[in-house]
Amino acid sequence: MEPLDAVIIGAGFAGLRALHTLRGMGKRVRVLEASDGVGGVWYHNAYPGARCDVESYDYSYSFSSELEQEWRWSERYATQPEILRYINHVADRFDLRRDISLNTRMASAVYDEASARWAIHAEDGRTWSAQFLVMCVGQLSTTKRPSYPGQDQFQGEIIHSGVWPKHKVEFTGKRVAIIGTGSSGMQMTPVIAREAQHLTVFQRTANYSIPAANAPVTDEEDRQVKANYKTRREQAWNSPTGLGFMPNRQSALDVSPEEREKVYEAAWNRYGFGFALAYHDILLSKPANDTAADFIRRKIAAVIDDPVVREKLVPKGHAFAARRPSVDSGYFQAFNRPNVELADVRESPIVEFTPEGIRTTAKEHRFDIIIFATGFDAFTGSLLRPEIVGRSGQTLKAKWAAGPVTQLGVSVAGFPNMLIVVGPGSPSLLSNVMVSTEEQIDWLAALIRRMDAEQIVEFEADPQAEQEWVRHVNERAKETLYLTADSYYNGAEVAGKPRVFMPYSGGVRGYRRILQKCAAEGYTGFHLRARPAARQA
Ligand code: NAP
Repeated sequence: MEPLDAVIIGAGFAGLRALHTLRGMGKRVRVLEASDGVGGVWYHNAYPGARCDVESYDYSYSFSSELEQEWRWSERYATQPEILRYINHVADRFDLRRDISLNTRMASAVYDEASARWAIHAEDGRTWSAQFLVMCVGQLSTTKRPSYPGQDQFQGEIIHSGVWPKHKVEFTGKRVAIIGTGSSGMQMTPVIAREAQHLTVFQRTANYSIPAANAPVTDEEDRQVKANYKTRREQAWNSPTGLGFMPNRQSALDVSPEEREKVYEAAWNRYGFGFALAYHDILLSKPANDTAADFIRRKIAAVIDDPVVREKLVPKGHAFAARRPSVDSGYFQAFNRPNVELADVRESPIVEFTPEGIRTTAKEHRFDIIIFATGFDAFTGSLLRPEIVGRSGQTLKAKWAAGPVTQLGVSVAGFPNMLIVVGPGSPSLLSNVMVSTEEQIDWLAALIRRMDAEQIVEFEADPQAEQEWVRHVNERAKETLYLTADSYYNGAEVAGKPRVFMPYSGGVRGYRRILQKCAAEGYTGFHLRARPAARQA
């Protein structure tokens, strides 16, 4: 068993940052990565049209000003291949690969109370021992695949957007189905529509979307961002979502309809996700939200030619941004093409897959390729997949049977020396995840420095503090409209999953202050022990 200071699970953005930081502190670290390349979700989600809907300059590491200065983003919203090139560049530039074991899936991790160390086992039988277990497994990395009668009989190719095949998928001359109209389905639709002979999009819930307003980055823009990068980062860290947008302090209800229209128009044309901050109460008040939802519905309706299709594609039944909206590049316009068809599965559910395609209650469709853009077992899927055994033989699965509980979204009582990066109970998917990732890893690094300085061997969340944090997360969520819709924020995406609101909606800046206060006050809500609890008299 190779003795290490830390084992990090996952070589995506979080895992690479954790490796770089901990290694820089002189720690012996190994990263276990299940797939055969680095990049996490950006390695796997290689579907046509995949791009980030956070601006490139903000969806990037801030830890190295040299890296910031040397990397040249080509578009305002980077494509998946460009982001993957960036991640690989980082892995090479900081010589990270030598500490990464690819093709190594963690099967289990067991905490040894006497030594205050984790024994980490890979599926292939290899084992590591480490003081710290750092879970960097992503929030949207365990795919959700529907199972329809006859699915195995289908003679064409079935692909999930989240594990896109490495071979080139040829759409020319093909009849293609996309099931699902979240961000993934909405991004791939216009691209596949341009290539395929025929495309059918199966929609269950119509989704809100804001135009990306993507554009190439000019040399002048690049120069300006790089000259002011520090300020830009500070703005992101101090903004509610980590995107750099500060909410308009006005209420949507305190201005005239004409004024509101102007503000929404400007936000629509430029801000992508920032649209939700056009007024401060869009996510807090239903009447305020209605004004934004109404504007978006009109915008969407205006670009769809067919009245029947238009009626189906315009979102209704949930508040704008109560479920994750999309940022698209021509999704709705794609339905004006003669080769694109919308199939409403609420109206005509899928009955079965046939060898030739899909049979709904309305008709029989013939396909060569069926794409599941059906999403993920969000937040907890990848954390609960391996067997994680904490104090007294308790598993994380058992502890989270009624839903995830964490102290500050980073740590779980009964699982000492384990850190979850961007876990449930942290801003995670309600934030620019790059900001949240770096924030939490820096917090962990400071904690470990303190442990080293004071010869502390074990940190552990206090169960009472954990309950308080969960209560606080729920209180903050109740102030918003998030609880008014079924979504992956609250476990509704997987049948039988506990219905618990998982991300922290108190904002990136507020969360940052809480983490900093906790550290400044000597890690309140945590126990720091010079000897493992199990060996204390
Ligand atoms: P998603 O948002 O969870 O959407 C899944 C879609 O599949 C929904 O339309 C859902 O319908 C539908 N669906 C699921 N099961 C179905 C079934 N059995 N029959 C019919 N429809 C079904 O998943 P996603 O689009 O992959 O996106 C997940 C998240 O990944 C995004 O919200 C975002 O956070 C991230 N993402 C980001 C980017 C980016 O940065 N550009 C791109 C892609 C994804 P219902 O709504 O009715 O459940």
